[in-house]
Amino acid sequence: MSNQEDLFKNLISHCKEYGFIFQSSEIYDGLSAVYDYGQNGTLLKNNIRQYWWQSMVQLNENIVGIDAAIFMHPTTWKASGHVDAFSDPLIDNKDSKKRYRADVLIEEHVAKIEAKIEKEVEKAAKRFEGFDEKMFRSTNARVLEYQKSADDINARFKKALNENDLAEVKQIIIDSEIVCAVSGSKNWTDVRQFNLMFSTQLGSVAGDSDTIYLRPETAQGIFVNFLNVQKTGRMKIPFGIAQTGKAFRNEIVARQFIFRMREFEQMEMQFFIRPGTQKEWYEHWKETRLKWHNALGIDPKKKRFHDHIKLAHYADAACDIEFEFPFGFKELEGIHSRTDFDLRNHEQYSGKKQQYFDPELNQSYTPYVIETSIGLDRMFLAIMASSLKEEKLEDGSERVVLSIPAALAPIKVAVFPLMGKDGMPEKAMEIMNMLKFDYNVTYEEKDNIGKRYRRQDAIGTPYCITVDQQSLEDNTVTIRDRDTMKQDRVAIDTIPNLIAEKVSLKSLLKKLV
Ligand code: ATP
Repeated sequence: MSNQEDLFKNLISHCKEYGFIFQSSEIYDGLSAVYDYGQNGTLLKNNIRQYWWQSMVQLNENIVGIDAAIFMHPTTWKASGHVDAFSDPLIDNKDSKKRYRADVLIEEHVAKIEAKIEKEVEKAAKRFEGFDEKMFRSTNARVLEYQKSADDINARFKKALNENDLAEVKQIIIDSEIVCAVSGSKNWTDVRQFNLMFSTQLGSVAGDSDTIYLRPETAQGIFVNFLNVQKTGRMKIPFGIAQTGKAFRNEIVARQFIFRMREFEQMEMQFFIRPGTQKEWYEHWKETRLKWHNALGIDPKKKRFHDHIKLAHYADAACDIEFEFPFGFKELEGIHSRTDFDLRNHEQYSGKKQQYFDPELNQSYTPYVIETSIGLDRMFLAIMASSLKEEKLEDGSERVVLSIPAALAPIKVAVFPLMGKDGMPEKAMEIMNMLKFDYNVTYEEKDNIGKRYRRQDAIGTPYCITVDQQSLEDNTVTIRDRDTMKQDRVAIDTIPNLIAEKVSLKSLLKKLV
């Protein structure tokens, strides 16, 4: 097992052990790709959502938020293109009966070839002094051969996707000699399209006309409310509508923990603009969203932009912000220039005008849209993956610490009486009561202080306060910082000011403006 796989397993068990994430319906052996957030996970998730929401709705006077229903009129999904085009190409291995996404099989195959190239480069860099990487990549026979093979597959794949040529997608899998990870065989079925929307019946009468869908994205709830919000909020273009909420997709291959779930949460913002200005707004939102991620202090090398090979049916430009998860660089957020596709189609299917009268131009038009769309669960995973650390301490011992940005930590302060007697618990409670109106605080009396510190480190609590004998005499306590492990003695009444700068969301939001 690779080191990365070990780390990922470790992360999953940490999430369970410390009340962040549980398998759904675990007592019935769980439900595949569905998860529940526990007591600490819920707080962290709420904080991430809050950081996103405030960065959109509070910091931008031209962005407002809504909360649309999960169920929508079924024609919504005809108009949006999801009934006809929201599908993934699937392929089965006839021997193992295992089902795969054909596009993922090919992408992973190409990634393996690219990894071989990197290995060659690394090996050569170690061997030759004054190594010129560019020169090596353009002259080494083996690297050139690998590169050509990767480029050929990518070009064929792109063409096949654009032409919706599923036979060719299968042929690429066969020509690339891709084997099933379980059976090891190349005995593949044909490639078929599989629609990812869950459907259910509305009311008690079954029949086609009552079929409705669980929304596969939150965006359409924004589009169908575009005019409601514009008119009632007297919004002027450019303006945005933000929303967070559950989305559902019947994913073919749902692995990798909360990275790919069948029920998940999205945080989406649709920004309505004048036609023709989409390029500049697309760049603006790429930059703005990257800044939002960078403010969290996560290693910038773990993030990158990736332009889409195949544009979705609604887009004229699209890219992902990818994050280096323990299983490689994968999409964390999508930024899409959606043109006027959605509003135009809703106008056509509903027969109701979806236009905006621009007083400056003195003309009506269907606005264009830039969308930013991020999965809350994926963001949660990215934060956990970049924060969970095992540290060797100077005294030779080890500690597990979750160094999440303090403003997102589930619990901001833990208060410990050194002993459960002599008035110390009462003093600790006084401190709890002072802080609890602003922050989530916790109280612990059990075990020695060292053990209590370790438990709080493991859930990422930025500060631990200890009440001791001296506290009763002079109203001071020790306050320990999670990251430096340094302890300072401070007066109790200075604590709110001392911690506010680090633990309030304001500290993060200020980095965005
Ligand atoms: P992928 O290519 O990984 O399937 P996508 O391109 O279909 O993702 P979008 O439709 O752009 O994803 O959705 C926007 C965001 O919603 C994604 O960037 C991701 O963070 C999140 N998301 C999408 N599908 C899932 C899922 N099954 N589980 C968790 N989050 C998801």
